[in-house]
Amino acid sequence: MRPRLSLLAALGILAIGAGCTTDGSRQNSQLRVRTDFPGGSAQVEQLSEESKTIQLTPTLHPGRGWDAWWYFKLEGVKPGETITLDVGKGIWATPDQAMFSYDNVTWQHTSPGKRQKDRIVYQHTVEKTPVWFAWGPPFVLSDAERLIDNICARSPYATRFVLAKSKDGHTIPALKLYDPSVPASEKLGIWVEARQHAWESGSSWVGKGFIEWVISDDPQAKALRQMADIYFVPIMDVDNVQRGAGGKNATPHDQNRDWSDSPHYPEVAAAQEHIRELNRIGRFDLFVDLHNPAPNDKRPFYFVTVAEYLSAQGAKNLKDFFLCSKEAINGPLPLLDKARESGPEYDKAWDKISKNWVTKHTAGHVVAITLETSWNTPQSTQEGYQTVGRQLGEAIAKYFTEPRR
Ligand SMILES: [Zn+2]
Repeated sequence: MRPRLSLLAALGILAIGAGCTTDGSRQNSQLRVRTDFPGGSAQVEQLSEESKTIQLTPTLHPGRGWDAWWYFKLEGVKPGETITLDVGKGIWATPDQAMFSYDNVTWQHTSPGKRQKDRIVYQHTVEKTPVWFAWGPPFVLSDAERLIDNICARSPYATRFVLAKSKDGHTIPALKLYDPSVPASEKLGIWVEARQHAWESGSSWVGKGFIEWVISDDPQAKALRQMADIYFVPIMDVDNVQRGAGGKNATPHDQNRDWSDSPHYPEVAAAQEHIRELNRIGRFDLFVDLHNPAPNDKRPFYFVTVAEYLSAQGAKNLKDFFLCSKEAINGPLPLLDKARESGPEYDKAWDKISKNWVTKHTAGHVVAITLETSWNTPQSTQEGYQTVGRQLGEAIAKYFTEPRR
């Protein structure tokens, strides 16, 4: 049986139980964890048909970053049955509440799990099938494609472009919003990107909320569109997102420690090239990198660059941008009162973090910042994340359109 199980595991399908044969008539009644789809991740340690308990960890992807992300479809379960998910691999892989979905589109939180050392046990009574479970609301390449198609269909000013071809050969989709009624020479430039860390799926949902607000009828959004060209990348590390890997601290190094003169990741090199060119022609003003923070960071916050990197104007602009953000990102996930600095004390490769590179390589007035949106709270849902994204849009509009304080 061993080679057969290994083959099934390799295919991302693992079933253990009475029906683990070619007997098709019994297949529907056996619990089966499937991960054979983009972003799928679950390594089953044990599975009990009797108690409907599944012990699992994220799928291990050596060299592809932290084992923090899991996402699977559960087959062989009937409505009314209570499933017990016992998830291991420590605090980063075990949110207080897991997520479930009956259509792989809309995701809801389970009840809070019970922690046992580095594991957590969630229980969920399945109301209907099929059912999926995940660490957080998934957002994979097809979601990015769909979002960009949707924005392009709804906004006459939106254009899709290919940021880069990834190491694995994926095309990385991106979006430019450009209103031709305003002379190009008067335009500001804004770059917003998400998901340099693949497991931080919430950051793509923040990005979705942001870009959908930008094309909305809100007068502030309209004003922003008229004054700025806006570039948006919903997923930077497409390779690890599609693989179902964590990405954070991948080898040879973390994607957000790749912002050097010789980047390893094609998507980072391409982003740098765009930003350099916008800066060269005097049309670059704001860079926002979207992330999810540590499990105990229960409120969103900004990481900012070190004071030595900032000109007097840059420091003033950063302060203004922070004040606008404090007003706009006001709940249900309100921004923390204090930003954190990602300098040498934060990480030895601090100067290769995106916003630090951007600050160093662009004009003194540019604001470059990382928004960390909490993932381990009851509000860390598709809706909650998108609200933060909309509020980020409002903050950006305030910063550029309202008189400076
Ligand atoms: Zn991150």
